[in-house]
Order: sequence, then structure tokens, then C-alpha cells
Amino acid sequence: MTNPLFDTLVAPLAARKTAFLTDAAGTEMSGAAFHALALRYAAALTGLGLRPGDRMAVQIDKTPQALALYAAALASGVVFLPLNTAYTADEVAYFVGNAGAALLVGSPARAEALGGVAARYGAQFHTMDDAGQGSLTDIAGSGPEGFSPVPRGPDDLAAILYTSGTTGRSKGAMLSQQNLLSNARVLATEWHFTPDDVLLHALPIFHTHGLFVACNVVMLSGGSMIFLPGFKADQVISLLPKATTMMGVPTFYIRLLDDARFDRSLVAHMRLFTSGSAPLLADTHIQFEQRTGHRILERYGMTETNMNTSNPYEGARRAGTVGLPLPGVELKITDPVTGTTLPQGEPGMIEVRGANVFKGYWQMPEKTREELRDDGFFITGDIGQIDADGYVSIVGRQKDLIITGGYNVYPKEIELLLDDQPGVLESAVIGVPHPDFGEAVVAVLVAAKGATIDTTAIAAALGQSLARFKQPKQILVLPDLPRNTMGKVQKNLLRQDYADLFTS
Ligand code: AMP
Repeated sequence: MTNPLFDTLVAPLAARKTAFLTDAAGTEMSGAAFHALALRYAAALTGLGLRPGDRMAVQIDKTPQALALYAAALASGVVFLPLNTAYTADEVAYFVGNAGAALLVGSPARAEALGGVAARYGAQFHTMDDAGQGSLTDIAGSGPEGFSPVPRGPDDLAAILYTSGTTGRSKGAMLSQQNLLSNARVLATEWHFTPDDVLLHALPIFHTHGLFVACNVVMLSGGSMIFLPGFKADQVISLLPKATTMMGVPTFYIRLLDDARFDRSLVAHMRLFTSGSAPLLADTHIQFEQRTGHRILERYGMTETNMNTSNPYEGARRAGTVGLPLPGVELKITDPVTGTTLPQGEPGMIEVRGANVFKGYWQMPEKTREELRDDGFFITGDIGQIDADGYVSIVGRQKDLIITGGYNVYPKEIELLLDDQPGVLESAVIGVPHPDFGEAVVAVLVAAKGATIDTTAIAAALGQSLARFKQPKQILVLPDLPRNTMGKVQKNLLRQDYADLFTS
């Protein structure tokens, strides 16, 4: 095998006359057409002078052409660097500069600003719009047909994905061919993907979930995708009858449950719903099962590690847990300070090792040393615990840990209690500066539809079940919680907003 990822994921599409990607209107792109397009883009990239190992940053809308550009990067050995479409030109500048990108592909509507960014860092600039058209597609269309994929080894970089950077500067996680291929193989097997699968794909493709978990798994297993530009409940509901599987973030499922049309009969034929990227409330899991008869399969992973754990396909899918370590993934819980393994059941730092774990942060050897141990274990920054049956639960991010009056408080413990209070839809518990305690516990609540929240009653209820130091010093009610595109609650923003609550 000369180029393991391309040969395994993309090359087999050449023989497929049937649909690989279908859009919302039902327009199909066959496997063969996708494959041919990928090779045309690969020829275009090479024609532009890009060599294996060069970085291509792309900030483009989700289209079949955008996915073909990823396949083209695999074919040509160019390192794929997808960027969130919400980033401003200034933010894009950081990634282009940090990665030393040779090419930036961006929306023609922002050509002036992004072209300027590219020029500043000596990168070329080309465009691709929300219909997959633009200067790069023009070059590919007028260039040669066919391209011989360049040889790549298992340790060669396939992609650099920047972490979402909710704390501190975004870091470029270097992902090798082997990192991506091993994880795609494990997931396709564990989740029983076959050529008959049609995945309803509404996730962004600039993130590990939508790009690698979803697309790599489908390509590897020979299935197809209904490829939507984004998540719209109406569209998803109308297209679910044509799908067999869906991968989502918890907010997708919350929004679907909000719609009365989302019921048992609509999804009776579905084989699998998976969730990840943010915690799925046990309540959502239960409601989903009551409404549809399906148990969502929750899994846990991150940009740096691909997927680490998954609830089983067959066997108990436990609400509130992220399941068991995947085959080939070693997972341990350690003392965040000393790094020693903790006794089973105790909460601590989740560390993982396996072929799925990245090669380090791009040009940040110190950060890499801080988080990736010499023995290959990656310190995830997630606090978790393992139950007697081996199921892992995430208790929170270490960075969200609150230290109040010298005591450690894990927000999740309080959030679980708050979520069960009358009228509460969801909650976020944060630490904010406090003159006496260092940090004070603050709870932010969102009311369920049509409900009002009685914060005094809730404070009294927490008083019954929590030690005094864990009880929120203040309970606030907001219309909703700030979330990023993957549905993660942005506690850093809440901490900023309420930084002066006790100090001004
Ligand atoms: P990202 O690198 O953007 O994919 O974010 C990874 C982080 O998302 C992890 O370190 C976890 O904190 C969180 N995460 C991913 N999946 C889950 C899950 N199923 N439950 C709770 N948190 C999750």
C-alpha cells in the first residue's frame, strides 16, 4: 500500500457508480465522480507547487467539493488544515502564520481580507464558495484528469486540526495517517457500519467529529451520506426517512426532541444515533428513548486523540457515561498532580494511549511535553471516573475545577443536582474570583420551556444535599448558555461575564 489513508478511504470510491453524497434537494454525486474530482484537485494542488508535507488551510463552506479537497490533500500528501467558518480574518491569520500554510482557500465573499492574510504570510490564496465553485475549482476543471497518489507512510501527517482554544491559544494537533486510519477502522467495526449505511451528516467538517468520525467511517465502510450544509431541524426531520444512521452533538438531539414531528414512526427504520463532542444530559438520553425507542450511543473523544471510548453497540448503553475504552485504546485515571494511577472509582485525570493519539502540537514542543508523556500517554485535561463495570464518566474539564477556600469542587456534581430541580432545563457551574474564598461557586440556570425558576427554593434544596463549600454563592438565570459550534458550553465566557460578581 502506498498511501494507506487514500487507498483505504478514497480509492475504492472510483468503482462506485451509485451515490456517495446526496444533498438536501436529492442531487447525487457518485463515488466515481467524487474520486475523479478529488484527483483533479490533487493535480491542481500539485500544479500550484504544493509538495507533500506542505500545509493547506481551508476556511470554506461544507460542500461535496470541500470534502473532495480533503481527499485531494490525502492523495497529494498535503497536510489538511480545516478552519471554523466563523473565524474572523484576524483569527485565520494566526492559524496561517502558525502553521506556515503554503495555501489558504477561503470564501470568495471574503477574498479581500483573506487574500491579505495569505499575502502577509507568503501563502497563495484561492477561493471556493458555498456551491463548491471558485478559483481552485476552475484550476481543477481546466487541469489534467487523473493523478497518482503520492506514497505516504503511517507516521506522515494527514491533517493539523487546531483545538477550539476555549482556554488559551489554539494549538495545532498533528494527526498522522495511522492516527486517523486506526480510529476509523475501530469505529466502523464497533458501530457496525456497512455499505448499506446512509449517514445523515449535519455536522461541520472543520472539526474531528464531522470530518474524521463521520466521513472517514463512512468512506471506510463503503456507505454513503446525506450531506447537509448544517443542522436545521426541519431539513433533518424531512430527510431522516432516507437515512440509516446519524451522528450528532447533544444540541441536535435536544432540538429534535423539541419538535413533535420527531417521533417513533419517523425513526423506526434507523439503525444508530451517536452523540459526542459535549456531554449528553442523562435526561436527554432518557427522553430520546421514551420518544423514539432508540438509545443514543454516546462516545468520547477529542481533537488530539480521535475517539477514546464508546458505549457498546450491543450491550448496555448507559446514560451519563461515555462507555468503555475502544479496542486499542488504553485509558487510566490518574492523580492530576502526581500522575499516579488512582484506585478504581475515584475521579481524576483521564490519560489515554494508543494508535489514535496524535503526534504532538505543531511547533509547540513545550506544550507537547506538558501534555504528552514520554511513555505515550496523553493527559486529556478531562476529569473522569471508571465504574466497577469499566464504564467511563466525564466529570468535567480540569480547567473548570473550582477551588474555593482551599476545597476542590467539580462543577458536574452540582450541575447534576441542579438539572433535577423543578423548572430547570440545564445548568452550568463556574468559579469566579472571590475576595475571601479565592473562588466562589456560581450557578447559571436555564429554565425549561414555559417554566419559571425559584432560585430560593433551589438554594434550599441544594443546602440539603451539598456540603456548604459546594453550595453556589449565587444562582443566576439566563435565557440560554453560551455554546460554540460543537454545542460545548463556553464556561470561559461565563467566567468573564461574572468575573466581577464578588469583587467590584
Ligand atoms: P474537541 O477537541 O473540540 O473535540 O473537544 C474535546 C473535548 O470535548 C473533550 O476533551 C471533552 O471535554 C469534550 N467531550 C467530547 N465528547 C464528550 C462526551 N461524550 N461527553 C462529555 N464531554 C465530551
